[in-house]
Amino acid sequence: MKQLMILLFSVAIISCAKDQELRIFDNTDSELWDYYAAFEDEALKRGIEIDLNSHQLTSNISNISEDGVVGTCQFHFNNPNEITIDQNFWNNASELIKEMVVFHELGHCVLFRGHLEDFDNQGTCLSIMNSGLAECRVRYNVNNREAYLNELFLAE
Ligand SMILES: [Zn+2]
Repeated sequence: MKQLMILLFSVAIISCAKDQELRIFDNTDSELWDYYAAFEDEALKRGIEIDLNSHQLTSNISNISEDGVVGTCQFHFNNPNEITIDQNFWNNASELIKEMVVFHELGHCVLFRGHLEDFDNQGTCLSIMNSGLAECRVRYNVNNREAYLNELFLAE
């Protein structure tokens, strides 16, 4: 009996912690919520307060017909700006690559950044805001994520 109590207690703690972490984003596909929360967190770590719900933004995961395009940010004059992530890409990509693409589109739609194609002498893109059409290659991974996110949020 005592063991059962301990087990129930730890389940309660775990579910409580999860509830606290869940942030809901308006007009946003729920599969994107964790990534949007991470975007706000990473901005805040760098002293930038971003409340994505205060941005006029509609975000969904759906089929993008254009070949090789995995995400888009469209600016609309009279309607909320719109982020679309390609469904097929989403089904197949790793979490880290999903994050890179979501952050890239938020870089356009929320940080109002354009593309940056600069690269180092290894041919590695200096920014996740590269267009994907340039010569440089991105190797977004756990080791360089911090540097890329510094560039994303703190670049002039
Ligand atoms: Zn772009």
